[in-house]
Amino acid sequence: MRLGRALLLVSAILAAASSARAETTLKGAIEQGSLVIGRTEPGAKVALDGKALPVSAGGLFAIGFDRDHGPRATLAVTAPGGKTETMELVVAPRDWNIQRIEGIAPALVTPPPEAMARIRREIALKAASRPVDTDEEWFAGTFIWPAKGTISGVFGSQRVYNGQPKNPHYGVDVAAPTGAAIVAPADGIVRLAEPDMYFEGGLVFIDHGQGVISMMMHMSRIDVKQGEHVRQGQPIGAVGKTGRATGPHLHWGMVWRDARVDPSLLVKGVAARGAVPGTAVGGD
Ligand SMILES: [Zn+2]
Repeated sequence: MRLGRALLLVSAILAAASSARAETTLKGAIEQGSLVIGRTEPGAKVALDGKALPVSAGGLFAIGFDRDHGPRATLAVTAPGGKTETMELVVAPRDWNIQRIEGIAPALVTPPPEAMARIRREIALKAASRPVDTDEEWFAGTFIWPAKGTISGVFGSQRVYNGQPKNPHYGVDVAAPTGAAIVAPADGIVRLAEPDMYFEGGLVFIDHGQGVISMMMHMSRIDVKQGEHVRQGQPIGAVGKTGRATGPHLHWGMVWRDARVDPSLLVKGVAARGAVPGTAVGGD
């Protein structure tokens, strides 16, 4: 009898101890350009490098590492009413190739002064179309390719346009004919649907929650509206070569808050890395 009560007391103490520590798991490789899905106790608080992040009602959160992220990051998880545990993460470096693209209209490589007002207006519009603290958890599911075709450009390549070194390539290019269908790679809310952006041409943002946003560029047709909830696999428009593009293709970019991440890492079962020729067919 006394022993029974003592065991009960011990298990009560263990239960109290475990509720003060949030069980946290991370899914996905921790490397430059990766999006990692975390799961913790509902109600826990999460911060990456001291910056508080949203956690869904179900305890899911996203963390992303920019192409140029340094070798370390610190993840802090505070259990509801409990202690803070910190995890030191090692962010693996990746190798980036160099991709040379010729034949881009000179005005698109170095915009003329008269285009600057328009470009600044579009930068502001894009920045205002990227909410970061939404509570949805669609980012945590499996993604599908938004278009069928050949991968003609990978994430992270150093781009050289008409011989001039420019920004790295922040996305994956799928070469396909003009008019080929583009579908939503995962559920989300359409935050931007603009047919004629200077660099991106037809541009759609799909918000998958917590600042994870797909950016579909160079579209010839857009079939969705801002604010619309799209389901994975739902057609959203068509491939084109609008904006800064040398041939018809879909550019699929992705951000997590301010970090540029590689969407191809989220598509299950497809090795988009390394198996791709260095020559562009329909660049940017
Ligand atoms: Zn591209």
